[in-house]
Amino acid sequence: MGYHRFTASQLGEGAVSQLALPSQDEDVAALRRLIVGKLAYSVGKDPIAAREHDWFLATCLAVRDRTIERWMASTRTTKAEKKKRVYYLSLEFLIGRMLMDSLNNLGLTETMRAALAELGVDLEALRSLEPDPALGNGGLGRLAACYMESMASLGIPAHGYGIRYENGLFRQVIQDGWQQEFPDTWLTHRNPWEFERPEIAIPIGFGGTVEAVHADGTDGHGPAAWTPAETVDAIAYDTPVVGWRGRHVNTLRLWSARAPDPLRLDAFNRGDHVGALEARARAEAISQVLYPSDESSAGEELRLRQEYFFASASLQDLIRRHLDSEPIDTLPDQVAIQLNDTHPAIGVAEMMRLLVDVHHVGWEKAWDITTRVFSYTNHTLLPEALESWPVPLMERLLPRHMQIIYLINALHLDRLRKQGAGDEATLAAVSLIDEHGPRRVRMGALSFLGSHRVNGVSALHTELMKETVFRDFHAHFPGRIVNKTNGITFRRWLHEANPGLTRLLVDVAGPQVLDDPERMARLAEHAHDTALHGRLAAVRRANKERLAAIIDERCGVRVDPDAMFDVQIKRIHEYKRQLLNILETVALYGAMRAHPTADWTPRVKIFAGKAAASYHQAKLIIKLAGDVARVVNADATLRGRLKVAFLPNYNVSLAERIIPASDLSEQISTAGMEASGTGNMKLALNGALTIGTLDGANIEILEHVGQDNIFIFGMTAAEVEARRAAGLDMRETIAASPTLAQALDEIGSGRFSPDEPERYRGLIDAITFHDHFLVSADFDAYAAKQAEVATRWRDPKGWWTSAMMNISQMGWFSSDRAIREYAEDIWNVPPGR
Ligand SMILES: *Cc1c(COP(=O)(O)O)cnc(C)c1O
Repeated sequence: MGYHRFTASQLGEGAVSQLALPSQDEDVAALRRLIVGKLAYSVGKDPIAAREHDWFLATCLAVRDRTIERWMASTRTTKAEKKKRVYYLSLEFLIGRMLMDSLNNLGLTETMRAALAELGVDLEALRSLEPDPALGNGGLGRLAACYMESMASLGIPAHGYGIRYENGLFRQVIQDGWQQEFPDTWLTHRNPWEFERPEIAIPIGFGGTVEAVHADGTDGHGPAAWTPAETVDAIAYDTPVVGWRGRHVNTLRLWSARAPDPLRLDAFNRGDHVGALEARARAEAISQVLYPSDESSAGEELRLRQEYFFASASLQDLIRRHLDSEPIDTLPDQVAIQLNDTHPAIGVAEMMRLLVDVHHVGWEKAWDITTRVFSYTNHTLLPEALESWPVPLMERLLPRHMQIIYLINALHLDRLRKQGAGDEATLAAVSLIDEHGPRRVRMGALSFLGSHRVNGVSALHTELMKETVFRDFHAHFPGRIVNKTNGITFRRWLHEANPGLTRLLVDVAGPQVLDDPERMARLAEHAHDTALHGRLAAVRRANKERLAAIIDERCGVRVDPDAMFDVQIKRIHEYKRQLLNILETVALYGAMRAHPTADWTPRVKIFAGKAAASYHQAKLIIKLAGDVARVVNADATLRGRLKVAFLPNYNVSLAERIIPASDLSEQISTAGMEASGTGNMKLALNGALTIGTLDGANIEILEHVGQDNIFIFGMTAAEVEARRAAGLDMRETIAASPTLAQALDEIGSGRFSPDEPERYRGLIDAITFHDHFLVSADFDAYAAKQAEVATRWRDPKGWWTSAMMNISQMGWFSSDRAIREYAEDIWNVPPGR
């Protein structure tokens, strides 16, 4: 064999991080003393009285200490060398647990394990004590977290800006099969990673009045004086973000809302104790909860208050930092601001307000500065997700911003008219104000206009952006739209989540693979090596045993680790088509019962994901998965060859357990509807084969792994569009597919819901008479492809060869690659190491 073998003893068990940082001179005794010191002086506990949670806090504080010097050094270098900084504005950061991530990146995992062992404490036990900060809904928030990690790893000076929600995404409990939402109280035991900065309290205004400041000849472009009716303070909380090998540390700054006057003493003294606190409650509601909607716009006043609150605080903060050493007009040389979706889009108007009203920059110059600093990432084409705000609400809450938006719009439309784009339909299409019905401000249009680059998140998504939402903008601003296909951080999704596979990769491709994921390509030369197949299979098998224990514990379902683990984990949404997967499960169940002695491939269908609390159809799909699971799992005629499990409370930690144990990755969205997906990348990186549609980044995964190593089925985006235009009544399609007809009939007639036979009638009617997501139309292609998957599974050599090919070709999907592209094409900062 032509590759180096590093023996287990050279590496040690679980020694990925030791290998990663051989030069660390950290020693076990020093770390042990540090932890005991933290326990005494910061937690206030004697080791003999300390509980596990006290040890957890002391350990985190010790790890945080280890980042401080590098953090300060990073900031000092950035300042001294006047490096341009990136500001990543995102209403969501789905960061996940941080202890193992920080240890891994600092190369301290094994040292810490040993130090704790000497104290009689188990690192793995501490790991599971950490709350999982869920300050995001799904892919969009997780992308922000991966990008923060990659910017630190590449040494790009960056700040993430967001909101420190007291309550993150709800905790999902399944009761009688139905999703119930409970508050996620991740801060109850204090957060050991953050530094509160009470001295950084930035006033954020709402409402009030605006007066023009008369400067002759400014033609409405001049400064104005805004007197807000209400002010809320934004308090900074900083969390260091450690990059790979601890070389560079960036900052995640999250804002918390605080009332300037916590208590109205006059009211309190009158005996009105509740009224005395009312203003405070209203102010602080801003950072109380994350909006739990995914792929749809909340449209409520509190949401707009959140958006303005964090955009304004962040811009005031970064301008202040800039002005410490530079004049305002060099802002574009020193600052790049990325808008993660339109949630921070009001920042474009806020930047204009700060420049014109506060820093006395002329309008034209201010607009030039604004468009050179901002860029915008679009995440969705779904109409229900495109943000817009009623003009009257904006006028009431942000009167000065509404004026500024009107002026930006008037100048923009004038310019287009002068360029000869006179027809009113075109002008209406690119106006910042939607005039169809009650007038609304279009946040996508504001983001586009205020940015020098607008990016989509996969090749297909970017092309569709040019043809749909931003068609007219694209015509007038050619070159502004660019593609930046999403990526994921391999530190979390490979090194930490799957140490067994990481060791295999190091053995085959050398330790440099930990720094250069493109080296994973070397695995391809060994794709047919059956000894390596055996090793990969053993790693997978161990991961599956761990997951099987979790499934047993959380769902009470016994599964066979030798069965194929067929996995669909993501938010529950009609366009993601969990329903298609469930229908195929029902069809497979029927076939197995009809031919019980046939040679069926044993499968475990694993689902996990949260439904938005107000999304009835999605919650019904969860209920259906549970109903099908109950019937299938109890059917002895199957002899355990089909099991269904819905794992509750999908989050980053659960993803880290499921993904390394997955054989088959379900990426079956209606073509044209999934902007990119990143779950697809995590699963393929860990060697799961994908069954998927030609949608989002599935297409790029296909291009990288080759068509023999992926199972692609179904309509293309163009075919979906044509089919929708032709009508969505599927009665003929269903009549032509007896398997589908039977599955629909069984569900619709209450076979899985004898307690309420009509429960799924509406769901089935929808995909029969108005199948917007083309579930019926894609069913046969999907079922046929699943049969191919089963055949490949029975050929282990073929299966593991494909798995090796998947892993070997996934280097390109590293978020380091994505961030380098942003750095070069959008931010104009050096692309780092
Ligand atoms: C990666 C990830 C997602 C995104 O998954 P998709 O399949 O791309 O929708 C959502 N939630 C969590 C917890 C994740 O880790």
